[in-house]
Amino acid sequence: MFNHDLGIKVRLGRDPYLLAWGLRFLRQCTPARKRANTLPKLRLAFYSRDSINALSEETGIAYDDRRKGILYLSRSRESLDAAARNYGFLADHGLPIEIVDPERMAELDPGLAAARRHFAGAVYSPTDQTGDSRLFTTRLAAYAGERLGVDFRYGTMVEGLDIEADRVRAVRTDAGLFSADSIVLAMGPESGLLGRRHGLDLPIYPVKGYAATIPLEDESRGPTMGGADEDRYVAYSRLGNRLRLSCTAEFTGFDRSFGPKNFAAMFRTAHELFPGAFDEAKAELWAGLRPMMPRSVPVIGRARYSNLYLDTGHGHLGWTLAAGSGRLLADLIAGRAPEIDTDGLLYRN
Ligand SMILES: Cc1cc2nc3c(=O)[nH]c(=O)nc-3n(C[C@H](O)[C@H](O)[C@H](O)COP(=O)(O)OP(=O)(O)OC[C@H]3O[C@@H](n4cnc5c(N)ncnc54)[C@H](O)[C@@H]3O)c2cc1C
Repeated sequence: MFNHDLGIKVRLGRDPYLLAWGLRFLRQCTPARKRANTLPKLRLAFYSRDSINALSEETGIAYDDRRKGILYLSRSRESLDAAARNYGFLADHGLPIEIVDPERMAELDPGLAAARRHFAGAVYSPTDQTGDSRLFTTRLAAYAGERLGVDFRYGTMVEGLDIEADRVRAVRTDAGLFSADSIVLAMGPESGLLGRRHGLDLPIYPVKGYAATIPLEDESRGPTMGGADEDRYVAYSRLGNRLRLSCTAEFTGFDRSFGPKNFAAMFRTAHELFPGAFDEAKAELWAGLRPMMPRSVPVIGRARYSNLYLDTGHGHLGWTLAAGSGRLLADLIAGRAPEIDTDGLLYRN
């Protein structure tokens, strides 16, 4: 909380909602709660990986994906041991992992040859994947519009829900009323604001993060697979001939603004990891809000009204969990049996 270079910032002062959220978060910080929250997420993550692979095969959508695994890098023996314990828990529940030394790290990803001396080792997760979420979603939307007749209304603001008895009669927007057989609330952190106005217990807090996407000047110096510098909270992925970096968790409300200073520590770490690979002046910068639940497990399923559903609160894992969450919710709405065990995943109000 006090070392800003590490990229975790909390502004408790004027935000009573953050205090309330923080108390609920602290209640989840026990070994027992951690286990109970991690297992449903892991199940959903496996399902999502299979679902996105099936979906990209079925639709032919290319999204600069790589299926070479991810390296979680540790700078000290201590942090490697802690990572091995954490990932060991996931390994016990089906995620293959390998603890690797710096030589093997650089063998797996030659892009880390120069930086390996800064590290004690890494956890290698060979079945993890990376890809460009923006490319995937924009191409999926184009496919759905052209091939499936989906009608997207971009730039339309949802203002509230009109409730009649136990149903949502209509969604109120700045472009008029929309009614539907089923309505899915999936507005990121704003889902919490709307949900609470209609009596849902939806404690979602916006956790801000920054991302930079940069063309590689020298592709041979860039990473060949995804990774994360676990001690600096900087994640990276290789998207075609681009490098995407992300970092920082700021608990500072709904502010989405950003400036060069927010990226300085991230670029310093990335230059150390991949010296000579990129020119930060060419970076495309972005800031976003992670819709974070205190349990860090998304909320999926029917909520309070007979035709209202939730698919929200995915926190820092919305891309990882997206395809499986969508498929699970589609099955629930259609009255089909879900393909995975839903224990710990369904919304309860
Ligand atoms: C820097 C950063 C890095 C990340 N990296 C990863 C990663 O590596 N892997 C991973 O799995 N996840 C990652 N995430 C998390 C991931 O981005 C989120 O979990 C995901 O975007 C959540 O998706 P969502 O559709 O629920 O919400 P959002 O992406 O926030 O989408 C919600 C949508 O609802 C719209 N909306 C909101 N209010 C209204 C309204 N009133 N009317 C109409 N529309 C509205 C918004 O405009 C938005 O388009 C990262 C997040 C950040 C910020």
